[in-house]
Amino acid sequence: MNENIIKRNKLLATTVIKGLESRNMKGYYAENKEEALKKALELIPAGSSVTMGGGMSVHEIGLVEALKNGDYKFIDRDECEDKRAAMLMAYDADYFLSSANAMTQDGVIVNIDGNSNRVSAIAQGPKHVLFIVGMNKICDDVDGAMKRARNVAAPINAQRFGLSTPCSKTGTCMNCKSPDTICCQFLITRFSRHEGRISVILVGEELGF
Ligand code: SF4
Repeated sequence: MNENIIKRNKLLATTVIKGLESRNMKGYYAENKEEALKKALELIPAGSSVTMGGGMSVHEIGLVEALKNGDYKFIDRDECEDKRAAMLMAYDADYFLSSANAMTQDGVIVNIDGNSNRVSAIAQGPKHVLFIVGMNKICDDVDGAMKRARNVAAPINAQRFGLSTPCSKTGTCMNCKSPDTICCQFLITRFSRHEGRISVILVGEELGF
């Protein structure tokens, strides 16, 4: 990566981390995927129960594989026959992992969801929530973050899951009410009531979409 981009990402991450701290959340900066994986494994104590609600960035840094092969109780929804039981277990997990659809420079986290298991677990339930967020997802403000979530993240996710939504055909949000919509719920996380519950590892590389 170009050294000026690396420098810019690091500088901007300092601002985002200050914003997170002002919102009772914790932020860390990792220059690359390897550093991000190391930091995540430092933060999650051995023996923890861990689950997630989707998130390419979490996979991309190698965290899912490391947890599955390590001394952790990883609850894999995809491998559970009883999806509802897996979802309910997630609400009682020690750690819930997620990426974000977008974040603001001052530390607000934006997520959209169809099933809504991800946004509900971020809002309440798991003892800790750990976000892995590439610096490509940082936007100026909440308006920009919502636009990114709906015009960039959602169309790509709709295509990824083979959903029949207008955005999967046009590449941008058409504000649909399609039965396949993945925009059932919007979660704007602007403050954490519980000290130490929400942490974000910002990564100075492009992750997810
Ligand atoms: S509201 Fe519909 S068209 Fe817009 S991003 Fe969501 S699923 Fe796509």
